[in-house]
Amino acid sequence: MPENPAKARRDELVAMYHEVHECRKCPLGSVRANAVFGMGNADADLMFVGEAPGAEEDRQGKPFVGRAGKLLDELLAEIGMERRRDAWICNILKCRPPGNRDPQPEEIEACKPYLMRQVQLIEPRVICTLGNFATKLLTGSSTGITRVRGRPQEREVAGLPVTLYPLFHPAAALRTPAVLEQLRQDFVGIPELVRRERHEADEPDLAMAGTPGPPDLSQLDLFAG
Ligand code: SF4
Repeated sequence: MPENPAKARRDELVAMYHEVHECRKCPLGSVRANAVFGMGNADADLMFVGEAPGAEEDRQGKPFVGRAGKLLDELLAEIGMERRRDAWICNILKCRPPGNRDPQPEEIEACKPYLMRQVQLIEPRVICTLGNFATKLLTGSSTGITRVRGRPQEREVAGLPVTLYPLFHPAAALRTPAVLEQLRQDFVGIPELVRRERHEADEPDLAMAGTPGPPDLSQLDLFAG
């Protein structure tokens, strides 16, 4: 165990951030403007995983900064959460597919190790998969988002036990008011889910209460917007 696990984790995330920005493991590395590593609180219990960067994300190098990102922030605010403080937000692919086409299997294969490493380092208790693509990949099931949305699933991701919470993608909610309403309803369940998972995971560690905690990674400037 490293002397300062939080610092070791931060250092590894920073190293991976630079690696992703140099990455050419798939053809998308040659057509992107910017790689989009992820942003938020590297110590969060909650992670959101989308599909791939869009045009605005590609331009800014940050995830969910277009209209869908604005909606995500609004929905988080409605449940008393804020992306920089309470969540880590990223995508399956770190580079934008041209014209926002679907990710190709070989691109997912090449990029997936980055997501898995992010999960191992950040150790979220709850992962919200946004949309069909992320949901099918992380649940390992072909069942579509309409049937599984809003239902927590206990799964193993990157070797860690996590609760997956499939949600509609905010971009789909922008197109269809009924989807937005369902997404809003599902968001209401997030705080209790995180509280429950945090409580269950922390129970054996109550004896540690009162000991100095790790440095606060919530404002890891490199990743926050
Ligand atoms: S999409 Fe992933 S694997 Fe492909 S170049 Fe970008 S970072 Fe590398």
